[in-house]
Amino acid sequence: MFDPKIIDELKSIVGERYVLTSPEDLVAYSYDATFTSARPDLVVLPDNTQEVSEILKVASRELIPVVPRGMGSGLAAGSIPFGGGIVLALTRMDRLLDIDLDNMMATAEAGIIASELADAVAREGYFYPPDTTSVHYSTLGGNVACNAGGAHCLKYGITGHYVMAMEVVLADGRIMRVGGKATKNVTGYDLVHLLVGSEGTLAVITEVTVRFIAAPETERIAQAIFPKLTDAGRAINAVLASGANPSMVEIMDETAIKSVEEYLHIGLPLDVEAILLIQTDGDEADAVRGIEIAAEICRQKGAREVRVAATPEEGEEMWKARSSISGSLGRIRPNKLGEDITVPHSAVPEMIARIKEISAKWELPIVIFGHAGDGNLHPNILFDKRDPEESERVESAVGDLFRAAVEVGGSLSGEHGVGVLKRPYLEMAMGSVAVEMQKRIKQAWDPKNILNPGKIFLIE
Ligand SMILES: Cc1cc2nc3c(=O)[nH]c(=O)nc-3n(C[C@H](O)[C@H](O)[C@H](O)COP(=O)(O)OP(=O)(O)OC[C@H]3O[C@@H](n4cnc5c(N)ncnc54)[C@H](O)[C@@H]3O)c2cc1C
Repeated sequence: MFDPKIIDELKSIVGERYVLTSPEDLVAYSYDATFTSARPDLVVLPDNTQEVSEILKVASRELIPVVPRGMGSGLAAGSIPFGGGIVLALTRMDRLLDIDLDNMMATAEAGIIASELADAVAREGYFYPPDTTSVHYSTLGGNVACNAGGAHCLKYGITGHYVMAMEVVLADGRIMRVGGKATKNVTGYDLVHLLVGSEGTLAVITEVTVRFIAAPETERIAQAIFPKLTDAGRAINAVLASGANPSMVEIMDETAIKSVEEYLHIGLPLDVEAILLIQTDGDEADAVRGIEIAAEICRQKGAREVRVAATPEEGEEMWKARSSISGSLGRIRPNKLGEDITVPHSAVPEMIARIKEISAKWELPIVIFGHAGDGNLHPNILFDKRDPEESERVESAVGDLFRAAVEVGGSLSGEHGVGVLKRPYLEMAMGSVAVEMQKRIKQAWDPKNILNPGKIFLIE
């Protein structure tokens, strides 16, 4: 139980209504998009950086764990307060502060919804490329803290490639600005990119400056239907090696296709092993030439049918099939564990074959989809967590998945982060020396271990 005096002190910082203590509120902040949950002792919703600083001063003095939280859409249990303490929800800090057209950079508070930032940039005629599927329900701060990616990262890179500067609050409450608008800057260690992907363990991000780029004039999208998954794998490598220069190459396996079709009834074929969704962009000539090259390669590699969208609406319909996979899976089993392994793109066919073996070995349905062009696959294990024996098999299957990813030259996570769920496998993926060096970084930034403790690794 929290000392009522501390609750009063926090209320005096953010205002009475922004310290939540009722059981209903605590339950609401005890989940993310995984199947795990744990209740915080309190939820505090600051309005500005100064308030974040004051809250952290109290937490540091009282040794209270603080778990930063955006929209709670994370897939690694990173924002779940397993050790109780304060959930620090940044969602009130959602202001767009500046769009600097001269430098092509935007600055916003960390709690802004990512799509609101991207839309504001688009209204000015520019393009902010990081495009998670969760873009409408994740925050900029969460995207930065996880170094989130999306379908267009194949051509345009991930969130970290766009972050120029940040304002953060350290564990002891000090406010620090890192980076700036100069595009070249090698003054000291690159603290901006140390904080990118730090999952709330080193500092609370309160403000972010990102760069944006000129918007491509147009885009083209094609759907290639493959009776054989292995042929789809070969087509991915050939398209990437060609002059098509795709902005996106996404894959859906047969279970994903079936799941979406049963959910949306949009005429997806149920007798094939894979669908590739390929997009090109640029000026009209480049986009058209690129999609024609990609379509021809898919035909040569064994696609039964390749449809190039004739209108933007048709393209959106094709993308809808891919973006609806996650939501459709609940119809098959009540729970899912969505993994995020990443492998060299040449190893995608081998990795898919290994996932199918793991699925058969542990008798668990595993749906495969993801950003095949950059080797980032999302095998989703479907199960019922009320069945303890099945949950144990899920654990074993996850271990096998991670081992297989590492064996083919990949790693545990392409965009969701380690959180708690991948923590047991960190050393296998990175080696004990790399883990030790990261723990030392954590100890330097947060010597009392109050910021999101237990995430990424445990500090003994
Ligand atoms: C259906 C679905 C689709 C998804 N698709 C994608 C995808 O395409 N690509 C992708 O990368 N991810 C995807 N995700 C995962 C998730 O949306 C991302 O990880 C996102 O970046 C999390 O943002 P959030 O605001 O919800 O953060 P939260 O879930 O609240 O937090 C995530 C982590 O960031 C930390 N954090 C949050 N805000 C801050 C802050 N201001 N300062 C410091 N630390 C902070 C938290 O402590 C936690 O460790 C998807 C999730 C779902 C449910």
